[in-house]
Amino acid sequence: MRVKKQKQNRKTVRFYKACFAFREPYKILCDGTFVHKMLESRLGAASEALSALLGGHTKVFVTRCVINELKKLGESFSGTVLATRRLTTARCNHEMLKSAAECLEAMVGTDNPEHFFIATQDAGLRRKFRQVPGVPVLLVQKNSLLLETPSDYQHQVARMSEAERMHMNEREYKVLETREAKKIESHVDSASAHDMSGDELPKKIESEDNSNSRRMLAVKDQPRFKRKKAKGPNPLSCKKKKKVVNPSTTHNQGFQAEGTSGEKKRSRKRKRRHHKVVESGEAAG
Ligand SMILES: [Zn+2]
Repeated sequence: MRVKKQKQNRKTVRFYKACFAFREPYKILCDGTFVHKMLESRLGAASEALSALLGGHTKVFVTRCVINELKKLGESFSGTVLATRRLTTARCNHEMLKSAAECLEAMVGTDNPEHFFIATQDAGLRRKFRQVPGVPVLLVQKNSLLLETPSDYQHQVARMSEAERMHMNEREYKVLETREAKKIESHVDSASAHDMSGDELPKKIESEDNSNSRRMLAVKDQPRFKRKKAKGPNPLSCKKKKKVVNPSTTHNQGFQAEGTSGEKKRSRKRKRRHHKVVESGEAAG
């Protein structure tokens, strides 16, 4: 029975973590009735008992308004006032101290931005918090802690927000619509410009679908700059070619080049001149 209950508690905590971004350490905001009941039921230190219940680190809070209300209740609650001193006081910024119920409601607001678990023995207050999305409610029942399962309303809100995330909202839809309209406009413009040139009309129509789908993918039909393609393998990855050095020929060429014209010239030119020299030599001989 106890294991089953714990499973249910873990499931509830998972729901608030997944749908309303609750994170450890879990913050529990208590009112006087809860603290008093915990003392009565001898459930031990609040943070430890609550950590065991929620399966994670916890931080337990009260507010100044809560403590103030307890003080007003007289001697029989002095032990409870002492117990609240071991808890953290959350700042509620109520200059004029309010009732604990009003203070807790103000702290939670419409969407519980601080992600508080609310711990109270006040049934009316618990009923109110069930109608606020993302507010888990705790109480002491039959001398043990009880985490209420999420209300139908909270389940509904979670489902709706999930559906919202799954689909486009109105603004997103409008943005997409205008973007599509612009695309079509530009497409029509480019098509009419193409008609003016006259040529390749059938080809254009043929490739209409293709180019349209390309535009949807934002792929340009023609590259703006043609890239130079590598001719042959990457020279940096290859072994260097061995230079075939023939000392006699180079020496000869150098000598003849020097002979024909006094300055250094490119080898190709030299070769031609070499031929001419030989031809002329033959003619002479
Ligand atoms: Zn307050």
